[in-house]
Amino acid sequence: MLEIVSLQKCFGDNVILRDINLKVAQGELVFIIGPSGSGKSTMLRCCNRLEEPSGGDVIVDGRNIMSGTRRDLDLMRLKVGMVFQGFHLYPHMSVLNNVTLAQRKAMGRTAEEAKARAMDMLERVGLAHKADAMPAQLSGGQQQRVAIARALALDPLVMLFDEPTSALDPELVGSVLAVMKDLKAKGMTMLVVSHEMGFARETADRVIFMDGGVVVEEGAPDEIFGAPKAERTQAFLSRVT
Ligand code: ATP
Ligand code: MG
Repeated sequence: MLEIVSLQKCFGDNVILRDINLKVAQGELVFIIGPSGSGKSTMLRCCNRLEEPSGGDVIVDGRNIMSGTRRDLDLMRLKVGMVFQGFHLYPHMSVLNNVTLAQRKAMGRTAEEAKARAMDMLERVGLAHKADAMPAQLSGGQQQRVAIARALALDPLVMLFDEPTSALDPELVGSVLAVMKDLKAKGMTMLVVSHEMGFARETADRVIFMDGGVVVEEGAPDEIFGAPKAERTQAFLSRVT
């Protein structure tokens, strides 16, 4: 479903991603860990060219996002949903309008179609009753669930999450993880950068440890957390767990 091949990214002389190779199968949840500054966010952002790769390929649903026209790229971007640490909702728009906007602008759905889809997705994240609220009237966890609904409303094939719960008060983290777990159960393909190791143990199919611009080690959660092979993985996990 998503394939990253020899991905490279430099900022000036600084090589951040040296040679990243990663395949995410349909319905798989791949969890990414690694030290701060190891390029996790940069890698996710390269997957829809929010960040322009310096080399390599990213293949989504059999199509290389590095080739093709501008229009192809715009269409592929819709297929790769993104959820960030900060929720980036439009503060002056209602929850409903936040979820319908891109559907209308980028997908050409009518107001009616967009609203129906938005309400379905808000229902799915447990927030249909907040459709008319403004973002500032919601908790951080609720805002993040709206951001997830907004991404889902665009019918993505794969969802990328970059530390979706890191900005939340501890008591709000569970509601967002529950939505992500439900997504996984319904078959969504997901790539998740997070520090929620408990969630990874329960939900991830595979865990990837990134450092120095490459994938150092990957395996089932039990393997990576229970018996990491690489010294760098051991050192990292002993610091964070
Ligand atoms: P964290 O766990 O702290 O979120 P990360 O693994 O997500 O870290 P990135 O944000 O991808 O790391 O950053 C990787 C490296 O790339 C860092 O050294 C960062 O300073 C650098 N970097 C990121 N974006 C830019 C940019 N636009 N210009 C220059 N350097 C950048
Ligand atoms: Mg990051």
